[in-house]
Amino acid sequence: MPQNTRKVHIVCRRCKTHFTGIYCPYCGAEKGAPSALGSRGGLLSGFLRFLLSLIALALILIVAFVALDYSASAAGDRHGAARAILDSARYAIPKGVLDLYAQAKSMFLDRWIAAVSEFFSILLG
Ligand SMILES: [Zn+2]
Repeated sequence: MPQNTRKVHIVCRRCKTHFTGIYCPYCGAEKGAPSALGSRGGLLSGFLRFLLSLIALALILIVAFVALDYSASAAGDRHGAARAILDSARYAIPKGVLDLYAQAKSMFLDRWIAAVSEFFSILLG
């Protein structure tokens, strides 16, 4: 019975890929049907992913800035490079944000960094 074993070829309506089976191997559409809900959800989740990656990037930059700030103000002339990077970064950051950072630094950060460095000094001997 050759007709029963012959596979049905489907042309994906979304991406025009020829395939057999239920899902398009190229774009993942079910039976090659364009699903309006799926594509809209994909667009939204794509935007959310973009937003989340921007937030993650901002957090990484903030952490890097704080680490540079503390290592630059830590000890002597050994951290000249860190201070140079920090100075050039300060030019790019608006004054209001720097003031806010200075405020946050004196309110929370100094205490947290002191606690963390104490923890590590205990840990390392
Ligand atoms: Zn497809």
